[in-house]
Amino acid sequence: MAGVALKTREDLAKMRKAGRVVHQVHQRVREICKPGITTREIDEEAQRVIDQSGATGLFKGYPGPTPFPGTLCISVNEEVVHGIGSDRQVADGDIVGIDCGVKLDGWCGDAATTILVGDVPADVRDMCEATEQCLRIAIENTRPGRKWSQVAQLMQRYAESRGYGVVREFVGHGIGRNMHEEPKVPNYADRNTRRHDIMLREGIVLAIEPMLTLGARDVETLADGWTVVTKDRKASAHYEHTVAVTSTGAEVLTDGN
Ligand code: MG
Ligand code: MG
Repeated sequence: MAGVALKTREDLAKMRKAGRVVHQVHQRVREICKPGITTREIDEEAQRVIDQSGATGLFKGYPGPTPFPGTLCISVNEEVVHGIGSDRQVADGDIVGIDCGVKLDGWCGDAATTILVGDVPADVRDMCEATEQCLRIAIENTRPGRKWSQVAQLMQRYAESRGYGVVREFVGHGIGRNMHEEPKVPNYADRNTRRHDIMLREGIVLAIEPMLTLGARDVETLADGWTVVTKDRKASAHYEHTVAVTSTGAEVLTDGN
């Protein structure tokens, strides 16, 4: 497990402070994410919350085909992850994925949620609930002495038994002083992920982030170089928490506690 940095209780306390800022951003966005608001206005409000907290957003300027332009990743409907705030107005029936990462006093927090706006079609609503349930399953089953692939398999089985696709191209990650640390944290298990498996142990901190699709699991990236969409343009949901492995189980660092 070379490269997986273990965190102390002191480190976790600092990560929880960063996690609280992420939680505040999510709370504020949930208040304002109503029909008619533009995704850019949501992004700007998130930046204000982060500025007031003394933290730094981790996404703006993130290296890619172009530096990422937004504070949040805002991914609507068929957008899976890495959507960019724009003039697009949120509409009744949309699902709006909000992903936020910040650094505070040298430590990172990262969490995502999907907001259901107004009258969302029942099949899309069910898919969102199943994605959140996948994250819950992962948190409940994360504990020392278990391999990540065992947890991932539980997530995958649940999602696929409900008929949803599990995105392969984007996965969770270790997190600490940097947003993206070792190991990779896939939401499925196969021969290849088992080859790079990790044994969970106290002090490992993971950003666990299931992404499910209503249709096929295949995704592609739009011409902006960032926005990932489902190939069949059916809806997709994304939920994420920063989760520490403790001596007996797991502790969520981005739930606002
Ligand atoms: Mg995230
Ligand atoms: Mg993440």
